[in-house]
Amino acid sequence: MKGSFTISKEELALLEQIIPKELCDSCLGRQLGKRGHGLMNAERGILIRQAFEEPPEQVQPKDCWLCEGLMDEFPKFADMVFKAFGPYDYDTYLIGCLVEDALKKREKELGALLNEGKEQEELKSEINREVGKLVWGLNNKEVAFENPDILAVLDTRFDVVKVEVHAVYLYARYRKFKRGIPQTKWPCRDCKGKGCKRCAGTGKMYPTSVEEIIAAHLMELTKASEHALHGMGREDIDARMLGNGRPFVMELKEPLLRKKVLGDLKAIQEAINEKAHGEVEIEGLRFSSLKEIREIKDHKAQKSYSVDIEFAEAGKVDQAILDKAFEGLRGKVLDQRTPERVAHRRADLVRNRTVRAIDGTVSGPSTARVSITGDAGIYIKELITGDGGRTEPSLACLLGIGCKVLALDVVHIHDDEVTEGKI
Ligand SMILES: [Zn+2]
Ligand SMILES: [Zn+2]
Repeated sequence: MKGSFTISKEELALLEQIIPKELCDSCLGRQLGKRGHGLMNAERGILIRQAFEEPPEQVQPKDCWLCEGLMDEFPKFADMVFKAFGPYDYDTYLIGCLVEDALKKREKELGALLNEGKEQEELKSEINREVGKLVWGLNNKEVAFENPDILAVLDTRFDVVKVEVHAVYLYARYRKFKRGIPQTKWPCRDCKGKGCKRCAGTGKMYPTSVEEIIAAHLMELTKASEHALHGMGREDIDARMLGNGRPFVMELKEPLLRKKVLGDLKAIQEAINEKAHGEVEIEGLRFSSLKEIREIKDHKAQKSYSVDIEFAEAGKVDQAILDKAFEGLRGKVLDQRTPERVAHRRADLVRNRTVRAIDGTVSGPSTARVSITGDAGIYIKELITGDGGRTEPSLACLLGIGCKVLALDVVHIHDDEVTEGKI
């Protein structure tokens, strides 16, 4: 027999209290399961029995006081897990299990007898490991303790397996060239997605979204159950997203297929862009993670905008007047009370955001094009219009003339740069 294992006289004396409980070799060995290397619990159990002057007889699992035959069921469990994994495409897997409370209680009772249970291996961990090994013999895939593609929860109480398929995460940046498309799928306000008169049965406020445009091809490939786009902030529905694009992670939930169909991400990116008909474009598609979603969500990148504005009266604002107004905004911290237009869905509070840069040119008797760089979360439209005094200062207030936003574009997201100041 391979492996090493030692046991003291004192411990044998303690073990004598356990032996009469009629344990199978696996259950006996598991009581000192964390000791010695290269041994299976059943082998360890045999060594323990043989260490006694009068070795007790071997107990079959079906007669075992602790496991009541569970140790004999591993091949059956492995088969169940392998079958449950059947429909899915995966490279890595993990097995977890549930056992009866009564069994856990008996296990605890034994643990209390020997070294306070410090060297006792949990029965659950033996099941996970040994069934895992048998499954490996069937599927030849890799066990992963972190982020496995697929997880089986084996309920040994009722002989059922619940499969959890982990999502696929893909990172890229998107540009949006067409106005009027929301970033994510927007459920109908009236029916909450069920379909009603207002949404003509679609369940949505808008016919499509950046999310749906990008996800369509990926859903077709992976046969996922659902998708979610996690973006680094979001632009207004009527704003375009240009320049270097906006980072996002697409989450594809419960995919039936993954590596088999996601082998050539470059070709997939091309296919997505082709199907997006020039409305949306993605770049830099690669695999991502749940961790990166959090990073993207927490990232407070400054953004640059281009805004076409119209003054309430023609001929009142020339370049010199406009430049003077910019001085009153450049580097200034704005007090921005939640804008009127979003007040119905956001808490009413005052945000402080800094205008990092602002410049622009008069483009007609009553129009100008303005470039602005601001902190994450700055309300650009309100910085122009003043929002009835809810944003202070504002261009409209400094010019003393009404200003309207004709068009707004995000032209750069500074996520790769170190940002400064209060964010
Ligand atoms: Zn047993
Ligand atoms: Zn509806």
